[in-house]
Amino acid sequence: MARSYQQIVKQIDALSQAYQPVRIVAVSKRHLSEKIRALYALGQRDFAENYLQEALPKIKALADLAIKWHFIGPIQSNKCKQIAAGFHWVQSVDRYKIARLLAEHREPQASPLQICLQVNINQESQKAGLAPAEVEDFAAALRDLPRLSLRGIMAIPQVALPRAELLATFYRLRSLFANLQQAGFAVDTLSMGMSDDYPLAIQAGATMVRLGTCLFGPRR
Ligand SMILES: *Cc1c(COP(=O)(O)O)cnc(C)c1O
Repeated sequence: MARSYQQIVKQIDALSQAYQPVRIVAVSKRHLSEKIRALYALGQRDFAENYLQEALPKIKALADLAIKWHFIGPIQSNKCKQIAAGFHWVQSVDRYKIARLLAEHREPQASPLQICLQVNINQESQKAGLAPAEVEDFAAALRDLPRLSLRGIMAIPQVALPRAELLATFYRLRSLFANLQQAGFAVDTLSMGMSDDYPLAIQAGATMVRLGTCLFGPRR
């Protein structure tokens, strides 16, 4: 770990002052529960996992902590029930069928499942996510589903973009997000920025950053 958790929090606090409030989500995939517990002890509350089978034992082992769990990986229909039960947020929604199953399986007495739509912002052929032009109609379709609360959009830009293109990509995401707000959706979450690029993402308008390596070190 190059820098301590507190140093990163301090840096992001300063960026939050300069731009907009930013929530840190610690991406704990391929890290052990003990490491999650240690970060929690330092004050971190939001954690994200990509794979259900890996996440379930950790969620169980850490059930004594007030963690907000975010699901950020690909979602198969047969996993929706457990995802809807175990997580507070799902940031990787990009198919109506998946949204419908998550809604169906969310317990009525639980708080609504917090949803971000994943956007394939650089329109990469192999990548998950909605095309930018599909986002608004998809958001409108979610209005009919109970027990889901649409919070915003999430994206993973193309890897190794030159800095100027990466910044332009973040700005395109910001305008997509602003368009949703202007269309009357009460969204407040623009989830973009990872270990290598989060200061740039915050500068471009991120309200949530998803940090793995810079908080936990290299993955196992
Ligand atoms: C792994 C992952 C991250 C964190 O990546 P780092 O580069 O380690 O910060 C963020 N978002 C998603 C969707 C991921 O899968």
